[in-house]
Amino acid sequence: MLVSQLSKMYQITFKNSVCLLDNGNLGSLTGGIYRFVPTRSKPVVVNSIVPSAQAKSAIMPSIDLWHQRLGHLSYQTLSTLLPPAAYSRSPVTGSLSCNMCIKAKRQRRVERKPAQRTTHPFELLHSDLCGPISPESASGLRYFILYIDDFSRFIRVYFLRTKSAVEVVSVFQELKARVEKRFPDYPMIRFRCDNGKGEYDNSLFRGILRVSCISFEPSPPYTQHKNGVSERMICTIVTKARALILDSGLSDEFWAEAVNTAVYLHARSPSRAVDSLTPYEKLFGVKPELGHLRRFRCTAYNLIPKAQREGKFGERAKKCVFLGYVHETVKIWRLWDPQSNRVIQASDVRFVEAEIMGERRVGNEEELEILKSCISDLYMY
Ligand SMILES: [Zn+2]
Repeated sequence: MLVSQLSKMYQITFKNSVCLLDNGNLGSLTGGIYRFVPTRSKPVVVNSIVPSAQAKSAIMPSIDLWHQRLGHLSYQTLSTLLPPAAYSRSPVTGSLSCNMCIKAKRQRRVERKPAQRTTHPFELLHSDLCGPISPESASGLRYFILYIDDFSRFIRVYFLRTKSAVEVVSVFQELKARVEKRFPDYPMIRFRCDNGKGEYDNSLFRGILRVSCISFEPSPPYTQHKNGVSERMICTIVTKARALILDSGLSDEFWAEAVNTAVYLHARSPSRAVDSLTPYEKLFGVKPELGHLRRFRCTAYNLIPKAQREGKFGERAKKCVFLGYVHETVKIWRLWDPQSNRVIQASDVRFVEAEIMGERRVGNEEELEILKSCISDLYMY
C-alpha cells in the first residue's frame, strides 16, 4: 500500500527506519518496504518511505502509555524493548515515576546466585499454585496455577475453582498435550514443585508423571526456597496484576483477567533471567509483536458486524472495557460488556486509551502491606 493511501486511514510517523501508525502499529523497514502486523486486518505493506507533511504531525504514544500497556514494566526495561521512534518522550531511566508502581511494585532488588540452567525448552518445568484468592472471580475461580519453562521463563497460567487432584491433573494434562503438539522435539523431562501438602502430592498426578517418564522433583520439607523460580514468579505476576487492577480502578473480582494479562505481558517483556531477551523470543525464536498492546481497562468499541445491526440507524459499535489478550494471538482482545455483564472476545475493536471508564477505587491498605511483604525479597525477572 502506498503512503498516500495509508495516510487517508491513519496518521503516520517515520523515524530511524520505523514507521508508526496512530493506532499504535509499528512497521520496520526491510528491503525498502515497511512491514506491519496489523491489529485487526490483513498485513499492511507500505512500499514507499517518503513521509508526508501530515505524517509529521502524528501523535505518538507517550512512554508513560507504553509503561501502562506493558503492565507497568520499568522505564529502564522499556527503553531496551522499544525503538526510540515508538514513543514521544525520553524515558526516566531507572526511576519509578508512576504512582501505581510505587504502590504495587517491589521496593528493593535482591541479587541471587544464578542456578544451573537448562539447555533446551521444557527440560525442566517449575510449577506453583496461588490461592485461595478472595474475592473469588466473577466466574467463581479461586486459584491459579503457573507452569514455567526453566529454559525460556515462558509461563502458562490456568485458573481453578478448587485445588482438587482432579482439577490440577486435568490442567496439567492439557498443558502436556499442548507442549507435545507444539514442541514435539522437546519432551518434558523434570517437574519441580513445592512439597508442602501439595496439590501435586497425590497418586493420580504421580501416576501420570510415571507413565510419561517425567521425573518429579519436590523441594524437601523446610527448604522450599529450592522451588524459588515458581514462588518468585508468582510474586512477579501478582505484583504486575495488582498494578493493573490499582491503575484501572476495576474491582478485585477481575483479578483473573489481570493475572492473565500480566502473564501475557511477562512473555513480551525483557527478562534478565534469559539474558534480557523476552521469554517469547527465547522460546519461539522471533521477537513478539507489540503493536496490538493497549492500556488495561481502557474504553474499547466492539464494532458490530453489518448483519447484526438493528436497521440502518442502529448502533454500529458497542462500548466495552478492555480486559486483555488471548494467549498466542495478536488479533483478538478480551472485552467486558457492562450492559450484558459478559466477557467477550473480539477482533474488530477501536480503542480509546485516554478513557478509563468508571470510578478509581483506592486499594485496600492491608492488602498492599501483604503484597509488599510478599515482594520484599523479589529480584527482577
Ligand atoms: Zn507504573
